[in-house]
Amino acid sequence: MSVPYSTDDAGHPAPSDGLSQSVGPNGPLLLQDHFLIQKMAHFNRERVPERVVHAKGGGAFGELEITEDVSAYTKADLFQKGRKTPLLLRFSTVAGELGSADTARDPRGFALKFYTEHGNYDIVGNNTPIFFIRDPSKFSDFIHSQKRRADNQLRDNNMQWDFWTLNPESAHQVSFLMTDRGTPKSWRHMHGFGSHTFMWYNANGEKFWVKYHFKTEQGIENLTAAEAKAMEAEDPDAHRRDLWEAIARGEFPSWTVNVQIMPFEDAADYRFNPFDLTKVWPHSDYPEITIGRFTLNRNPSNYFAEIEQAGFEPSNLVPGIGGSPDKMLQGRLFSYPDAHRYRIGPNYLQLPVNQPKVEVRSYNFDGPMAYRNGADPVYAPNTVGGPAAAVDLYEAEGYQVSGEIVRSAYELHKEDDDFGQARALWEKVLSEPERANMVSNIVGHASAPEVTADMKKRVVEYWTNVHPDLGSGVAKGLGVES
Ligand code: NDP
Repeated sequence: MSVPYSTDDAGHPAPSDGLSQSVGPNGPLLLQDHFLIQKMAHFNRERVPERVVHAKGGGAFGELEITEDVSAYTKADLFQKGRKTPLLLRFSTVAGELGSADTARDPRGFALKFYTEHGNYDIVGNNTPIFFIRDPSKFSDFIHSQKRRADNQLRDNNMQWDFWTLNPESAHQVSFLMTDRGTPKSWRHMHGFGSHTFMWYNANGEKFWVKYHFKTEQGIENLTAAEAKAMEAEDPDAHRRDLWEAIARGEFPSWTVNVQIMPFEDAADYRFNPFDLTKVWPHSDYPEITIGRFTLNRNPSNYFAEIEQAGFEPSNLVPGIGGSPDKMLQGRLFSYPDAHRYRIGPNYLQLPVNQPKVEVRSYNFDGPMAYRNGADPVYAPNTVGGPAAAVDLYEAEGYQVSGEIVRSAYELHKEDDDFGQARALWEKVLSEPERANMVSNIVGHASAPEVTADMKKRVVEYWTNVHPDLGSGVAKGLGVES
């Protein structure tokens, strides 16, 4: 078979695919062998720093189609009825490193990038509608507690429970994590959620608060703790493999896109703080409305270029969609693009996977690895015909805020507490077998040898606050007197 010749990175025909240049067949090698030097030097630079969180993942490309008219709520181009928008979806675990097992008990990242007519729109979600904390100043401490100790670099369940029990707002999310939804069967068999509250505004400037729910059309399927553990040993890449193989077979996974919409004025005295990331909006107050669906239909052709270097950021917003006073969202609007500037480089938005599909006419120039051709003028405003801001598109995005500068928790709304919604999950939603599995998952996790007797008592107290039956089940399993 005739094949094209291989080259070095500058396109020169390669003199050999496996022989270095030496002084005689047995002699030393030569520094002049540019082909060898480039190969070795490039190999040393094959990695970028792995993500501090969500390091292990996989993803695929697809398409969003909007089937319902929601123009009364948002003028965002991608959400207009009939619109089809290409997208990238990356799934991940949170705490494990690049080579870690896919079936570990952990939330799953569910990060979407939509390539819209107004630039990229990203929803950096999870497979749970809530999160462990509600203030970003706790985030690095939270993640440290879930990762590794300083001294022996081991994971440590005592440290995890220490953080969770000292931060009771975590109870709702830890409840989700300890049900069998904490170990999904595959990425195809779980929901995704935007989790945060975002703002939508329509062409008349009317504003709404919105939450996104992406419902799996494959159905929810989970592993038991024992099945997940066994799969960690059998195939640590089980979820990456499942997604890749399903798409390769032409079995394209899909999700229904639902939203909950809250009138702007309701937020002030809604019974829960609607911006608190540890809370859902109960469906009885704000039912889910279906607006469309998306399908994944194409595997990446180069994992590193298209998935490892993909940079998702909630700050990628488009006209018709804004942020909200959700403090975690506010923190993430900064921290995600900042992570990409460090991990990939300041021009990460010029890489094909991150590049918008529309023409970029930015006045940001140069920097490492810049290749976008920015033409004169290099400043704004100018009188020489350079592009000018689309002020009209953003007219409605502002809203009134006022207050003293403080360091304070959110003001409580009338039904806000740390345990009520976790209790609703236990009481109203979980079946009897799901409750039994939740108890045994908690007991299994808190029975690790490093978890101290004192910590086990705190674990029991934490779950008793969610529900006395849950507390007594955990106490019994841990051998703690309740
Ligand atoms: P609903 O009964 O209207 O909704 C309950 C939700 O729980 C449904 O979305 C259901 O959808 C989901 N669910 C079902 N089984 C499980 C499970 N084993 N683990 C996690 N979620 C499950 O009640 P409310 O809206 O009043 O919420 C009650 C509680 O349900 C909340 O406190 C929260 O813990 C949980 N929940 C609420 C959500 C919301 O946005 N309101 C979303 C998800 C959970 P599905 O089976 O399709 O996931």
